[in-house]
Amino acid sequence: MTQEFISFAALGIKELQPYQPGKPVEELQRELGISKIVKLASNENPLGPSEKVLEALRSVMPDLARYPDGSAYLLKEKLSDFVGVKTNMLTIGNGSNDVLELLARVYLRSGIEAIASQHSFVVYSLVTKALGADLRVIPALDYAQDLNATLTAINDRTRMIFIANPNNPTGTWINKADMTAFLKEVRGDVIVVLDEAYSEYVDEVEYPDGIELQRQFPNVVVTRTFSKAYGLASLRIGYAISHPEIADLLNRVRQPFNVNAMSLAAAVAALDDQEYVRAAVDLNRQGMKTVTDACDKIGLPYIPSVGNFLTIDFGRDAMPIYNALLHEGVITRPIGVYEMPNHLRVTIGLASENEHFIASLSKVLT
Ligand SMILES: *Cc1c(COP(=O)(O)O)cnc(C)c1O
Repeated sequence: MTQEFISFAALGIKELQPYQPGKPVEELQRELGISKIVKLASNENPLGPSEKVLEALRSVMPDLARYPDGSAYLLKEKLSDFVGVKTNMLTIGNGSNDVLELLARVYLRSGIEAIASQHSFVVYSLVTKALGADLRVIPALDYAQDLNATLTAINDRTRMIFIANPNNPTGTWINKADMTAFLKEVRGDVIVVLDEAYSEYVDEVEYPDGIELQRQFPNVVVTRTFSKAYGLASLRIGYAISHPEIADLLNRVRQPFNVNAMSLAAAVAALDDQEYVRAAVDLNRQGMKTVTDACDKIGLPYIPSVGNFLTIDFGRDAMPIYNALLHEGVITRPIGVYEMPNHLRVTIGLASENEHFIASLSKVLT
């Protein structure tokens, strides 16, 4: 007997499309037999893990047969000092995506709405729809979130607003004055998720500190990650900073051991290695200049970015360019799923990787 297993799946799940990650290096090696491959597709830290992290990982290995510390005591103590909030405001996740999902599970369900911007991170849509809630997508303004239109879209059923600052895949950001004016207008029973996955890279005087905003507006939840500037993408660890009452709710739906011992130890060591973060941010600043200068020279428009990636406008379907770059051994990220079929997002890499990308780009465009 054959069954349409999808027919009796939960409504929200039926409509989901699986998340499409950047192409893995090994896959391209298998497909094209190219050995020298540069992956600039997933906004990963090109420096590789810090030495201090590797040391911490080795020290955990003898205890791998034991469950991790489900309360994440050590990491919360460290983070509490580092970000300046009480430990009861912290929730540790298996990546910040895990925290986004916990927030959705606490607050979203069928009949409830969340709001996100056009061209914003797809995980917002995934976690919202998986719960059977509706996602209201606000048309972007110059590729950035339109905060006035976001305010206008709030209704009685709105329970959550997602704001990535800066946003992926556009690299756009919202300044402190605009964000504060916006938050003043949002009802207290609407959770505003400020996703600060790339905050370490931002070098703008007017960039708002999410922690300060959270202090001022208790309905703000800040999410941060160790996946980008801290170089721990593979270990999956991130966190939320929220009002203690929200943290308590997140803790109720969290799996008891959602973060593994290696990741917890690595995050503690990574926080202690701010020199590594500074090196990553410096490298990114230089690389961003190299890549934007090259685009200017070629005459390619791009969206100015404060993150560790640049989104380039080819003015036509970008897939042939993406494929041609693959043949040169460069993996970038097509962003058709973000309604940007003419753009490719490229992560800023090591100097040599950026040069490889620029040379390949010049080659495939001629
Ligand atoms: C990369 C990224 C994250 C981080 O996700 P993790 O689950 O922590 O790896 C979160 N938000 C945005 C917008 C991102 O681009």
